[in-house]
Amino acid sequence: MIPERVWAEVDLDALAHNLAVVRRRAGAGVGIVQIVKADAYGHGAVAIAHHAVRCGVAGLGVGTSGEALELRDAGVRAPIVVLGTLVEDEVSAALHHQVEFGLHSSDRLRRLEEVAAARGLIARVHLNVDTGMGRLGVLPDRALELLEDIRAARHLELAGIMTHVTASEGAFADSTVAQMAAFGAVVERARALGLRWRWTHVANSACVFSDLEPMYDTVRPGIATYGALPAPLPGREELRGVMSLSSQVVFLKDVPAGTPVGYGATWVAERASRLATLPLGFADGVPTSLSNRGTVLLRGRRAPIIGRVNMDYTVLDVTDHPGVVVGDRATILGVDGDERITLEELAAEAGCMTYEVTCSVGRRVPRLYRGGEQLSVPAQALPEAPRAPTPAPQESPL
Ligand SMILES: *Cc1c(COP(=O)(O)O)cnc(C)c1O
Repeated sequence: MIPERVWAEVDLDALAHNLAVVRRRAGAGVGIVQIVKADAYGHGAVAIAHHAVRCGVAGLGVGTSGEALELRDAGVRAPIVVLGTLVEDEVSAALHHQVEFGLHSSDRLRRLEEVAAARGLIARVHLNVDTGMGRLGVLPDRALELLEDIRAARHLELAGIMTHVTASEGAFADSTVAQMAAFGAVVERARALGLRWRWTHVANSACVFSDLEPMYDTVRPGIATYGALPAPLPGREELRGVMSLSSQVVFLKDVPAGTPVGYGATWVAERASRLATLPLGFADGVPTSLSNRGTVLLRGRRAPIIGRVNMDYTVLDVTDHPGVVVGDRATILGVDGDERITLEELAAEAGCMTYEVTCSVGRRVPRLYRGGEQLSVPAQALPEAPRAPTPAPQESPL
C-alpha cells in the first residue's frame, strides 16, 4: 500500500543536472545565484539550498528576509541576497545573519546605514537598477547618485549591481536590448568612478537560455534549475523536471448514465461510468482550471479529470481503464511508464505559468527528496581576490 495520500518527489539529481546545464550555457567562471524564493518555487528551500551549495553555487537569492533567515537557521552559510524590498522590522536580524540586500532607494539606504551603524555591522547591498521592470529598482539616471551615497555610507558595502529583465524570451526581445543598454551605461559609469563590487548580475533563466550578452559574472536562474523555461527557448530539452506530484486512487465507483459529478454538477455521465476519486485538490497543486480538461496518469495511461477540481479531491473517469484498482498510483506531474506530464504541459493545459504550478503545492504535501549523492559540480568563479582597502572618508575635525 502506498503510504501517502499525496506526495511530491523532488529529484536532487535533476537539480544538479540542471545546474550543470545552466553553468555550461552561462559560460566558464560565471557564478550562479540559485533562486530559492517562495520555498524554492514549492520544492522546499532548505533542501534545495543545501544541495545547490554542494553543487557549487556562489549564493542564493530569496524574496524576503524571512526566507533568508529560514536558510540561516537551517545552517546555510553561503551568501544570501534578498532580491525584494526590506520591511523595517526585518533589517536588524537579517544584518546580524549577514544577509545581503537589493537596494532601490535612498530612504532604504539611510535606514540600513542607521541599523548597521547602531549594531556595528556592515550591510552588503546590491544596487537594483530599474531598466524597465517598473517595480523595485532605482531609475538609471539616479543610480549614480545612489552609488555615491553607498560609497559615502560608512556601514554599507557595495556587493553587487543588478537589474531584472521583463521579457519571457530573454535576450531575444527588443525590450531586453534596451534594458541591457541602460544597465551597461550604469555599470560603465560606476567603473569610471572607481567603484568596485563583487557581482554584476542580470540573467534569469530566460536570459541564460537566450544567450544574453554580456552575461556578466553572475546569473540568477530559478525556474530552469527546477526543469522548465518561461518560453520555448533553445536548450529546453536538456533540462530535467525536478518535482513530480503523485497521489493514489482511494475510491472506485460504478455509476449509471446521468450521474452528476462535483460542485455545480459540471460533468454528467453520458454512459454507465467508472469513477476514481483521488484525495488531492487545488490545495495540493492541482489547478482548478484543469476541471473537466486535464489528465492524470494511471498505469501508464491518461485518464481525464471530470467535474470541478476542489480543495481536497479530484475525480477521474476510468471507464476506459479496466485494470485500475484502489491503491493505484496516480501521477499528476511526472512520469508513469512511457507517459509523462511535464511542468510545461501541465501549465499550458491549466493556462497558468509553470512557476504557479509548483508554488501551489500546499504545505500539507510531504516533499520526498530523492538522489543527491551524484554531484555534477559546476565550475564557479573564485571568490574575489584580496584587495587593498579603500580609504575611509575623512572625519571632519569638528
Ligand atoms: C525570481 C527572480 C529570478 C529568477 O527568475 P526565473 O525566471 O525563475 O529564472 C531572478 N531575479 C529576480 C530579481 C527574481 O525576482
